Amino acid sequence: MKKILPSLICLALFLSFAFAQQSSDISERAKKLHFSSLVMDTHIDVTRKLQTDWKFAERHDTGHIDLPRMKEGGLNGLFFSIYMSGRVTGPKAVNDALQRIAAVHKLAEDMPDKVMLCTTAADVRRAHKEGKIAGLMGMEGGHMINNSLPVLRMYAALGVRYLTLTHSVNTDWADSSGDQPKHNGLTDFGKDVVRELNKLGVMVDISHVADKTFWDALAVSKAPMIASHSSCRAISGHSRNMTDEMIKALAAKGGVIQINYLDSFIDPDLYAYSQKTSAASRELMAKLGEPTRENFAKVREELAKQFGPAPKPVGSASWITLTTP
Ligand SMILES: [Zn+2]
Repeated sequence: MKKILPSLICLALFLSFAFAQQSSDISERAKKLHFSSLVMDTHIDVTRKLQTDWKFAERHDTGHIDLPRMKEGGLNGLFFSIYMSGRVTGPKAVNDALQRIAAVHKLAEDMPDKVMLCTTAADVRRAHKEGKIAGLMGMEGGHMINNSLPVLRMYAALGVRYLTLTHSVNTDWADSSGDQPKHNGLTDFGKDVVRELNKLGVMVDISHVADKTFWDALAVSKAPMIASHSSCRAISGHSRNMTDEMIKALAAKGGVIQINYLDSFIDPDLYAYSQKTSAASRELMAKLGEPTRENFAKVREELAKQFGPAPKPVGSASWITLTTP
């Protein structure tokens, strides 16, 4: 025993040294790969901030994105999300969407040496070559087309390069994963929307849609589709996540899934907790009004009193509001 113990200690030390060496190698290799690649984020929610006096070019202590931290983190391009709640419909949705689009255009106009508004892959490569951030636009929710293909064409002309067919509620032509089934997937007009997107060269985004809507869109779309911000249902059971079968079918037609790393979408415990608390959290948030950081904290505190604390520290407020992002 006396002889074995030192040998075991030596072996353990050797293995832990080898492991540390290996993980630092992997980390170095990953860093190298990351900083030598063109890295894109396909869904960024700062667009509404662009409509305020918030400054994209300045470093901020809150939120996830600004220009200095994009540079430091090696993020070369992003899709600004043209977003509003799916409950905003009709002319107001079109009007608000146009204002968000205008805010992205203005950002690129104001910082021509830093941000390039891109609408093609060639544009993105050129922006990267010139050391600029590639700024693109994705529209999060078919409600903003106001049931009109001509409106959709205008969005495409203004530079929108993907349309998420639904947000968290059904549109008049597509079922959402966050709502009760109404159309059994896509209606005939919904299929026309997919065909029109193909014609316009605007990507069909299936994040947020009901499973049946996904399968209908996959059958209709001639172009590869994307999931701009979805995760895996095998890991977290959120209805907004994709099953393995869906991911394989998406890939088989050339499509891509971009993972959403918000906690309840990738953590089964947080997802279970969010399910348990969702009705109460919606009610509390409705009473408090604006979804501010302070109000999220108040809701969390109240939920902890009613249901016990969240199973682990929460990195973002997302688990409280299942309807966003
Ligand atoms: Zn979203």
